[in-house]
Amino acid sequence: MSDFQKDPVALMCDIGELVGLFDFESGLDSFLKRAVSMVAWHMRAAVCSIYLYEAKTQDLVLRANQGLNPALVGRLRFALGEGLVGTSLKTLKPICEANGRDNPNYKFVPDSGEEAFVSYLAVPITRKMNPVGVIVVQDPQYNYFTANDIQALRVIASQLAGVVENAHLLLALRKNQDAVSTSADGPGGKLETDGPEALLLATGTHCIPGIWAAGGMAMGLSTRIGHYLERTALNDPAPEGLTEADFDRAAALTERQLLELQRRLQDKIQDAASMIFGAHVLMLKDDAFAGEIRLKIRAGKNPWDAVMEEIRHYADLFEHSPNSLMREKVLDVEDLGHRLLHNLNPAAAEADMPDYTGQIVIAESLLPSDILKLSAEGAAGLILLGTGQHSHVAILAKALDLPLVVCGDRRLLAVPEKTPVLLDAKGGQIVIRPGEEAIQTMRELLRNLATTEQLARRSKPETRTLDGTRVTLMANLNLVSELDLAMSAKVEGIGLYRTEFPFIIRNAFPTEEEQYVGYKSVLERMAGKPVVFRTLDIGGDKALSYFPTPHESNPFLGLRALRFSLRNPEIFKQQLRALLRAAHVSERAKIMFPLVASLDEYWTAKEITLACYRDLRAEGIPCRLPEIGVMIEIPATAMLAADFAKAADFLSIGTNDLIQYLLAVDRTNSAVSSFFSPHHPAVLRTLARIAEAVKPTGKALSLCGNLGSDVQMLPFLLGIGLRTISIDSASIPAVQEAIGRINIDEAEWQAREMLTFTRISEVEAYLEDLRKS
Ligand code: PEP
Ligand code: MG
Repeated sequence: MSDFQKDPVALMCDIGELVGLFDFESGLDSFLKRAVSMVAWHMRAAVCSIYLYEAKTQDLVLRANQGLNPALVGRLRFALGEGLVGTSLKTLKPICEANGRDNPNYKFVPDSGEEAFVSYLAVPITRKMNPVGVIVVQDPQYNYFTANDIQALRVIASQLAGVVENAHLLLALRKNQDAVSTSADGPGGKLETDGPEALLLATGTHCIPGIWAAGGMAMGLSTRIGHYLERTALNDPAPEGLTEADFDRAAALTERQLLELQRRLQDKIQDAASMIFGAHVLMLKDDAFAGEIRLKIRAGKNPWDAVMEEIRHYADLFEHSPNSLMREKVLDVEDLGHRLLHNLNPAAAEADMPDYTGQIVIAESLLPSDILKLSAEGAAGLILLGTGQHSHVAILAKALDLPLVVCGDRRLLAVPEKTPVLLDAKGGQIVIRPGEEAIQTMRELLRNLATTEQLARRSKPETRTLDGTRVTLMANLNLVSELDLAMSAKVEGIGLYRTEFPFIIRNAFPTEEEQYVGYKSVLERMAGKPVVFRTLDIGGDKALSYFPTPHESNPFLGLRALRFSLRNPEIFKQQLRALLRAAHVSERAKIMFPLVASLDEYWTAKEITLACYRDLRAEGIPCRLPEIGVMIEIPATAMLAADFAKAADFLSIGTNDLIQYLLAVDRTNSAVSSFFSPHHPAVLRTLARIAEAVKPTGKALSLCGNLGSDVQMLPFLLGIGLRTISIDSASIPAVQEAIGRINIDEAEWQAREMLTFTRISEVEAYLEDLRKS
């Protein structure tokens, strides 16, 4: 047996180092060669081979090897499903054999020298569920590889997949360069800086109404992203006297800044383990990019113009690429241009980072990964012009505590750079060039905003009503970075971890291994407290930019949440395996299915979970089958609450969706927001019926929608018998204090009264009377 034992952190560091070895100049094969020797050393294995999948021939080709006959590299091929290598990729499963020859799919390769090696371990390399290749380790000792080795090789495979994909993208790009048309206007079209519209906001104070999407308040200087190049071209002539040495200095400084940003991002948002700034660094190191700039400088071009030309060229190539992943990289290219040009100015000091620190960013729309970058770069606030007002972008901004206002006034695009802007996100106000008085008021308000220290001071570890009844307050979690806030609020656990957010903010599917590491770290940080992991709730207003789905005219009634998972079993199984493995770390981990509409769906999902559990056991991977729960978010599920309570281990009411579906009101449509009424008698009666139906079964019931932080409604919720509520961490102190003023007998009586009302107005009048009394 292998004595290879490493703690996961050291392992991740080593793998990070391995990925850092990639440098486009020396090519993919040279990287793979270094990778196999590092992996062989890392796994203490005599042989390591990497096969890459060729889509054209559907073959796996040996691209790098250590320990076998080197003449086979580039020549040895396996078809999909052929031999252990082909089988591993076809089934997308690792193959671990005490003796590889015992496996019926084993295929001996003459003249390879592999007769000396008995133990065999192959792990598929996949990216976004697409085949990339297979990594194999072999050793002369019988039964040498352990469950730990399988896990280690999975981590390595997931990291390799990213590098191979990036390399392929750049290669494909170069091949297609000539075929791509160029646009005279450059990327993004012309900036609307002239005309009467722009002049309206060019001077004086303006107050522009918008819609709150996230966060509180912010103040800063305006900047518009995505059009730096046009701005520079129009306004800034190239500085004189720049040399190739200035470009080299600027490139080195830019790389250091990017790596520092990546580090800051990882400190802030552990979920974003993938390299958000990876594409920037890769381009910067790519000889076809930097080398071309140097050639132009040597031919007499001013370095400023050389950078400008090359960035325009790449932005254009990306923008016109048929590959949607590449089109999304236009902002990355422009961002890289922004940094390089800034750093080319000899006056730019090291400390002077060309980032968005303290700025109010104005943009037409943004991707989730842009929100991450802006947060890492310290942007003070965001103004989006409508197209970006998808609630997942808003929830992400909320999770990052980044004030965000959505506003359709296109004049904002012409606000001159570095104009003072005050953002009262909660009040939905954008003030351009605010007066001194407004600035003072804002400063005052900013001082009073909830901080982790204030949360820690105001919250208690236990919540009780006035008469001493225990209520459990848990936190809703969207990103791991919110855990600090949850801990400061002394929550008793995580009642809802929306696991889709780590998927949404990335550019590609996290692998099973990456998910496992993320889930495990949440459990470890919660140190024995319960954590409810909700499986993916993709669909509705939460799309994955990297996973194309057909257009739906009613996405909230479409392929969403559990339906999406059941329709994409490979994605579902990968998440379940990661969750079952993480559950091994804590007895208090739980799994919950979102938007379950029928018991049939629940049993199908549970069967898949059990099958994943059996597979993991058979593979010898440590795992645990935790409690499995159901979200009640659909009227049909509410009707069958008693039956669901018998079938599942626990239930949680998702009032955001339950209200949306009960009242037929789109929760993201601000035009109908006044109809989204938690005070509707049908909502009250549905909640009461659920509580009543679940009670005799003795199963745990909680509530995890926004209604839980509606202080006015707390007496009703406790009055119908709810005792566990999961809410945003920032709301904990206010909810805890309100619960401390409730007497359960009174609350039960009030709830009974409220259930007699037939009109929303009666419920609201009653709540108003209670507030005044
Ligand atoms: C809900 O619907 O109430 C809920 C908690 O889930 P989400 O807001 O993520 O849809
Ligand atoms: Mg929901």
